[in-house]
Amino acid sequence: MTRGDSPEKELAAIKGTKDILPGEVESWQRLESVARRTFELYGYRELRAPIFEATELFEKGTGRTSDVVTKEMYTFTDKAGRSLTLRPEYTPSVVRAIIEHRLDLQPEPMRYYYMGPMFRYDKPQKGRYRQFHQVDVEVFGEKDAAVDAELIEMAHSLLARLNISATDTLVNSVGCRACRPAYGRALREAARKKMAVLCLDCQRKVETNPLRIFDCKLEACRRAAESFPLILDHLCEECREHFKALLGWLDLLRIRYRVEPRLVRGLDYYTKTTFEIVSGSLGAQNSLLGGGRYDDMMKDFGGPDICGTGFAMGMERVLSVAALAPEKRKVLYLAYLGEQAKKAGMELGRFFRRNDVECLIEFKDRGMKAHFGRANKLQAAWVLIVGEDELRKARFGLKEMATGRQVEGTREELLATLQGR
Ligand code: AMP
Repeated sequence: MTRGDSPEKELAAIKGTKDILPGEVESWQRLESVARRTFELYGYRELRAPIFEATELFEKGTGRTSDVVTKEMYTFTDKAGRSLTLRPEYTPSVVRAIIEHRLDLQPEPMRYYYMGPMFRYDKPQKGRYRQFHQVDVEVFGEKDAAVDAELIEMAHSLLARLNISATDTLVNSVGCRACRPAYGRALREAARKKMAVLCLDCQRKVETNPLRIFDCKLEACRRAAESFPLILDHLCEECREHFKALLGWLDLLRIRYRVEPRLVRGLDYYTKTTFEIVSGSLGAQNSLLGGGRYDDMMKDFGGPDICGTGFAMGMERVLSVAALAPEKRKVLYLAYLGEQAKKAGMELGRFFRRNDVECLIEFKDRGMKAHFGRANKLQAAWVLIVGEDELRKARFGLKEMATGRQVEGTREELLATLQGR
């Protein structure tokens, strides 16, 4: 390909995926380091699982009737004939890893975080991609509603560190296996009466998973859903107490929230607490993060009966509302003149980098004027001049580009100048 040609269309990035280029990647790195630091302050450790898993893991975990599993998975058969899936979410992988490595027998708290790409074959639009990135946190073995509240408080703390304000926190309880079936029946009965006004998708949900009707964005379905019974009126004693305790903790932490009784979230496994933090400055895809409790997943996978709770945050969405000032890099541009100076430059570069100075040498033989033109263009902080004279004296010229100030010295003396000593 010659310069100026555009790549062949079939070689372009796949629809719904994006390159994260230098210039933009710095904000991602900032987000990652702020998130990492925040989670570590609360006792979380990183757990990295593979990008693809057995398809069955998501069918069982995420749920056979969820949109994610029925419509959105990237599933393929490998050469050994196994059905594999690019993970559409992270929680089932963590649960699998805990069971596989018996992490529940370790003395450390089971608090894990992770950041990485997820894959869903959804219709791409602003804020919705086919490869997107999530920050994910999960806690296992802590039944107390206090941990759900602490998760929400930690999410707030993370968003504050990223200078994100103007968010709403929505909370709900979706009950458990004791109280949800009866509620499901009441809901199905009410939904059947509205069958005629529901979209085709929701008509199907009436039989498969009526709770999912609350997810539908269509006006007619939303209006119909307003008359449906609410889960909060059907909770069993245990779920009611848990929800009351959660709200109590949130009040204690002075976290503003709104109880949203139709918040069911897109995944099938939630029990008791569900929550979401939405941003006023995003359009249709306004959910920054969402999560909740999933007390049955581990047991359903054939593992120990250990409860779980957590949330996943969309990195693209957070970055689109975060005010992250780019960090100014301070680069030393090394301008060598001639073959000897090039060799000495290589050694000098090594010396400065070992002393933590970012040093750029482009191996394109240039004259002095071209070097300075290039250093200007790159907005280098300093230029180090290495010519034959300088080599003979083992003293080099250093120019500070912003002020034009020029000094001369040995490499050790110049290092001291660069380090502001
Ligand atoms: P979920 O895993 O569906 O509970 O989503 C958790 C968070 O991931 C959401 O609040 C979004 O911020 C983000 N998210 C989910 N799906 C997508 C997508 N297709 N593209 C971009 N972000 C997404």
